[in-house]
Amino acid sequence: MSPTPVMERADEDVIAQSKGPKNRRIGLDCSEEGKTPSIKTNIQKKEDLQEDPRGSGYSGVRPTTSSTSSHSIKERLLFHHKIGSGGFGKVLMAEDTLTRRQFAVKIISKRALLAAGEDEDVMVERRVLQLATGSPFLVHADFSFQTKGSLFLGMEYMRCGDFAKLLRKKGRLDITSARFYAAELVCGIQFLHSKGVIHRDLKPENILVADTGHIKIMDYGLALDNMHRDRTATSYAGTMGYMAPEMLDKKEYNAGVDWYSFGVILNDMLPSKSAYHRTLSDESSSGAKDIIKQLLQKDPVQRLGVNGNIREHQFFQRIDWVSVEALRMDPPYIPVPTKRNPSSHPLKLQNIEAAEARCSITPEDQARFRGFSFVNWETLNKTPAQ
Ligand code: ADP
Ligand code: MG
Repeated sequence: MSPTPVMERADEDVIAQSKGPKNRRIGLDCSEEGKTPSIKTNIQKKEDLQEDPRGSGYSGVRPTTSSTSSHSIKERLLFHHKIGSGGFGKVLMAEDTLTRRQFAVKIISKRALLAAGEDEDVMVERRVLQLATGSPFLVHADFSFQTKGSLFLGMEYMRCGDFAKLLRKKGRLDITSARFYAAELVCGIQFLHSKGVIHRDLKPENILVADTGHIKIMDYGLALDNMHRDRTATSYAGTMGYMAPEMLDKKEYNAGVDWYSFGVILNDMLPSKSAYHRTLSDESSSGAKDIIKQLLQKDPVQRLGVNGNIREHQFFQRIDWVSVEALRMDPPYIPVPTKRNPSSHPLKLQNIEAAEARCSITPEDQARFRGFSFVNWETLNKTPAQ
């Protein structure tokens, strides 16, 4: 079991109040090199979620009150080059000058978020990034804070690219490699579901590869939280090609949509159907074919993951789940991290704040981001493992 991390809520924040049922975006989020062109619309649709008694301030991990750092993380950061672009801002490499640890800091414009009506979604993303600290198969954040104009999410920096890149490089995988990645994904997906989170946008572009060769799920921008037990949702979100039939049909759905997407990803990894018989033993071939069939099951009630224990499926019969969870299985491929020298003119937070000085947001709108900030000092003050 992972230890419960020590969390501290940053000083400018107050605990968010319950907001009740939410409107959610209809979002189709596709990568540049993904299966489908990028589409994003903002038609609002009422969610059929019931009110949660814990309110939207709930996260799987509770904040505590002590801090061991004398300097705020905001003062310690130096911002270097751009790592990626997001829908509402960019992701920069930033270094903590105290520990020399590098982070991927996602900087999101409050104004852009408000204009798109997506301020609720970023609060979900931040909550999931915080609770993700509990699983090694999820990209997590160690801190988040805000300035007048922007939100900052400080995530672990994964410098080996995404799983789509790995698949492009390697082509179809052999069954043992596919089984390794699939097992790690099962652990990550089951952790999210155990916390009441549906990812809704699982695809190779949203899986990052660590220096160690292990993989982690990322991008909780379309996630839904508080989806415990029999709760269902109807809002439409995801990426074409990975969306479950019930989502496409605008029907009620639950965590089964993630298992469908997982089935598509697994299908992308494995040898093509015609190659099954040539390349796989009978046992592997039937296990692989059957798991895909059961994951791509049209009826979500019958779908593996929701129905039955996926860990016990024949495809995983040689898997020691205790070893997987403990990261003791050897990854099939160790990637070469992208090396980049730190910028010779890194920016401090004040420089970024100065650039947004003219940004005006009403106090009412600022209040929408209450509860955004947190600092996990326990992991933050550790020097990076070399
Ligand atoms: P958005 O949800 O706005 O699309 P993402 O979370 O997908 O933003 O991040 C945009 C890009 O930034 C990603 O496609 C990826 O290339 C890069 N990125 C995001 N998080 C990390 C991270 N933790 N480590 C390395 N790169 C990252
Ligand atoms: Mg994204």
